[in-house]
Amino acid sequence: MGPGPSNVNPRVLEAMSRPTIGHLDPEFVGMMDELKALLNFAFQTSNPLTIPVSGPGSAGMETCFVNLVEPGDTVVVCQNGVFGGRMRENAERCGASLVLVDDNWGAPVDPQKLEDALKAHPEAKIVAFVHAETSTGAQSDAATLVDLARAHDCLSIVDTVTSLGGTPVLVDEWGADAVYSGTQKCLSCIPGLSPLSFSERAVKAVQSRKTKVQSWFLDLNLVMGYWGSTTSKRTYHHTAPVNALYGLHEALSVLKEEGLEQAWTRHAANHRALKAGLEAMGLELLVREKHRLPQLNAVMVPDGVDEAAVRSRLLTDFNLEIGAGLGTLAGKVWRIGLMGYSCTPGNVLYCISALETVLGSLDAPIQRGAALAGAESHLAAHPPEHVIA
Ligand SMILES: *Cc1c(COP(=O)(O)O)cnc(C)c1O
Repeated sequence: MGPGPSNVNPRVLEAMSRPTIGHLDPEFVGMMDELKALLNFAFQTSNPLTIPVSGPGSAGMETCFVNLVEPGDTVVVCQNGVFGGRMRENAERCGASLVLVDDNWGAPVDPQKLEDALKAHPEAKIVAFVHAETSTGAQSDAATLVDLARAHDCLSIVDTVTSLGGTPVLVDEWGADAVYSGTQKCLSCIPGLSPLSFSERAVKAVQSRKTKVQSWFLDLNLVMGYWGSTTSKRTYHHTAPVNALYGLHEALSVLKEEGLEQAWTRHAANHRALKAGLEAMGLELLVREKHRLPQLNAVMVPDGVDEAAVRSRLLTDFNLEIGAGLGTLAGKVWRIGLMGYSCTPGNVLYCISALETVLGSLDAPIQRGAALAGAESHLAAHPPEHVIA
């Protein structure tokens, strides 16, 4: 129950154990087409260039930047946590002229600040932001931020690594241009792949670059030749991670069977139960209710409590992983994930009781004896009808 990887659905592991076939085998090419259709479903887009990048979420991030940014381009990066900082790093390494929109950690990206930056920099070409900041548990208003980018004639790069499968990611409705995600968070697949979708505008921008993409491996002009996004002919670029892709196909099939809306509802309901239990203990969440991610709960560490000792006791005594704070939040918060296959009422109750036991044994200033009842009453009011079998 950390910030990812989440528990992998056994169906995914089973799918991955099937025999490895050639990456140009007609059977495999057929599976690639199904996989693209499943990704179109997950991202809610009809973009033909919707594929899994052969690499973790960070590779998806880098794919967006190296393909869309040319040296000297002005890029506006919104930063409200660790992953926005990585976007900034990517933009700089691509030779961009950087405009930073800074927000407090735990707050969403402020659309007014973005609008001010875009007005001050009419030459800007790209706006980049993180939809679901895993370092803080805050969700930003992607539709509004993408609208602002469009209104100022910019392409948008949107990180949905933690949101995809957990909260609504509506690529076409938002009008987003370059969106990437990860497999090990709410999709509950193994780590190491990065679903990605490019709008037609973004594809045009890649095809009409003045300079070559500096990364040969991540150059979408070449990768598209293998994934058949522009033609039906497939040519070898790199050997696809065949078995990992079987796993992703299965993970997305699980998501489709459950239904996107049902998955979002399940994450929200289990989050409310977890929050009720934590608050009954007297613990507080970092992010204001309106902007909270259900799948990533940043919990304030009570005064005088050694947060690392708590995590280590949870791991050794209860075999339960929760995450530490990153960057400016190191030592100040725990990050409890409720992602994908790990997002169940049973895990909520287990986490609450284990945390209460450990904090109690350390004489932490918490309310004892109320947390389970708090969470349970919430689960009773919101029956967990969407538990994955
Ligand atoms: C996890 C994460 C990443 C990086 O994904 P990796 O698979 O670890 O490379 C990027 N952005 C966000 C918001 C994340 O949560």
